[in-house]
Amino acid sequence: MANVLVVAEHQAGELRKVTLPTITFGAETAGLLGGELYVLVLGDSADAVANEVAQYAGIAKVIYAKSGALAAYTAEGFAPVIAKVAEQVDAEVIAGPSSAQGADYLPRVAATLEAGMVTNAIKVSNDGGLKFQRPMLSGSVLETVEVTTPKKVVGVRTTDFDDAQTGASAPVETVELGEARADVESVSLDLVKSERPELTDADVVIAGGRGLKSADAFEMLEVMADLFGGAVGASRAAVDSGYSPTETQIGQTGKVVAPNLYVAVAISGAIQHLSGMKGSKTIVAINTDADAPIFQVADYGLVADAFEAVPALTEKLKAL
Ligand code: FAD
Repeated sequence: MANVLVVAEHQAGELRKVTLPTITFGAETAGLLGGELYVLVLGDSADAVANEVAQYAGIAKVIYAKSGALAAYTAEGFAPVIAKVAEQVDAEVIAGPSSAQGADYLPRVAATLEAGMVTNAIKVSNDGGLKFQRPMLSGSVLETVEVTTPKKVVGVRTTDFDDAQTGASAPVETVELGEARADVESVSLDLVKSERPELTDADVVIAGGRGLKSADAFEMLEVMADLFGGAVGASRAAVDSGYSPTETQIGQTGKVVAPNLYVAVAISGAIQHLSGMKGSKTIVAINTDADAPIFQVADYGLVADAFEAVPALTEKLKAL
């Protein structure tokens, strides 16, 4: 039977939200193939994550590959286990989020299985063969591709699929891998500590552009983001100017986000920026230039000076 294997992402004992739309993609693909969806959790003390995953609808079984060697993520350690489990469950499609981690291990899985690979899949269909759609050139071109190898590895653009819904209880099978060894071992991992959510997980993103003219000006965005429990993002021009850290960059060469609310402050709306945020549910733009392209994708636009509008809006929000 042609089944689907989805790899769950988790960090510091928590399931990453990017896993949920990847499960939706997996369930849809399994439906198109008439097969089953299996979800793989790799780790050492990830029992709670495996049990959490099992609550999402559409999953035939959660496979928890448990080993001390999988306690910390390395592509060298994870990829052979994913490939092995893919063979065991007879998976035709092996999918993971098109995240930084997914971009790291998925090509290794594809190489191990001699499988063709698609990145950033935004749609799947089956008309006598599975076909995947992916955006190119900042989303101005959509390409449909067919992978002709027996196994297919897919990186899923998670902003284009809905989150999987809870309410189910799939069985969890724990596979003890013993001392599975990897050629590379993680010695330590220094996570950038932040009280704010990960950009790609956040429900609200307040993003700033070059128009803010300094790193100090980003502090007013942080105050606003904190009111929502949101994250702060930036355009590439703002990152290149040193106003905001690299990991906050949104766009073609940064992160792709689709929060419920995206506030673009002093961002012009270049196509490379839009390709990283135009899937957001509600877009608010604040810009002094009424002709800025960002207003073409904005649901609400405010032609105003950010240095007046952001503090004023923040005060109003605090009063709510
Ligand atoms: P600008 O275009 O300089 O816009 C600043 C805006 O601020 C203007 O609209 C201005 O009216 C407004 N403004 C000025 N002062 C104020 C004020 N006081 N109050 C309110 N508004 C004000 N860009 C990305 O963002 N992400 C990417 O991933 C990315 N990848 C790229 C990849 C390639 C291959 C290339 C060629 C480019 C890429 N870019 C990317 C760069 C992109 O083309 C733009 O240069 C960039 O997005 C512009 O950033 P910005 O809007 O902050 O700056």
